[in-house]
Amino acid sequence: MDITILGAHNTESENTRLISLLIDDVLAIDAGALTSSLSFAAQQKLKAILLTHQHYDHIRDIPAIAINYDLREKTLEIYSTKFVHEVLTTHLLNNVVYPNFLEKPPENPTIKFNILEPGETTSILNYSVSPVRVNHSRFTVGYEITAADGKTMLYTSDTGPGLTGVWQQVSPQLLIIETTASNRYESSALETGHLTPSLLQKELESLRDIQGYLPQVVLVHMNPLEEKKIKTEISEVARALGASIRLGYEGMKIHI
Ligand SMILES: [Zn+2]
Ligand SMILES: [Zn+2]
Repeated sequence: MDITILGAHNTESENTRLISLLIDDVLAIDAGALTSSLSFAAQQKLKAILLTHQHYDHIRDIPAIAINYDLREKTLEIYSTKFVHEVLTTHLLNNVVYPNFLEKPPENPTIKFNILEPGETTSILNYSVSPVRVNHSRFTVGYEITAADGKTMLYTSDTGPGLTGVWQQVSPQLLIIETTASNRYESSALETGHLTPSLLQKELESLRDIQGYLPQVVLVHMNPLEEKKIKTEISEVARALGASIRLGYEGMKIHI
């Protein structure tokens, strides 16, 4: 499995993009940087997009990529929870902000939306995809994705602490998890459902206790203003755990 991090941050600028991951050029997770990072040809290679939750930094490029598919009379397969479907159709693809590509054109709508249920494994393309509930805004899911060769990655999406239930269900070779802010913002991270390096350390200790090992870890969703501090604090966490923990960046490629 080849994973490319298209967007690794929680705010956008010339040098930072919102969250999007690309797997083997055909499967995307979250849509913060799909159109801004991918050529038209690369966009057309996508066979499915998984969305983790309704926050704007994770769904932003859905209208933009939908129009590119619409103009080429192609169908875009999107998978997520019922709640994300509701938010997209109510607030974004609502025929006010943007056309409702879930119903347009009527004979063959551009977006085919597939509802996923947390805890139910689904086969998408050649992957086995399991949505797992995490601790963020309501109904947020991460995805465990297993390729045909058995290699497995887990992307938690945005999440706060308390992932014991997740660790009991997964055994990935690669963990892509968020660390939004440095340790000094622990209380606001707890309030908004995010992680800091010291909160992440506790989660990784719990993963190691439950699964007996630590996978390689890549961090995303960093606040660019906090990134330097996060990097320093994370190197201490990695040392304490004897683990490989790297900060993700736009264009980063990981092979498992
Ligand atoms: Zn979020
Ligand atoms: Zn986010």
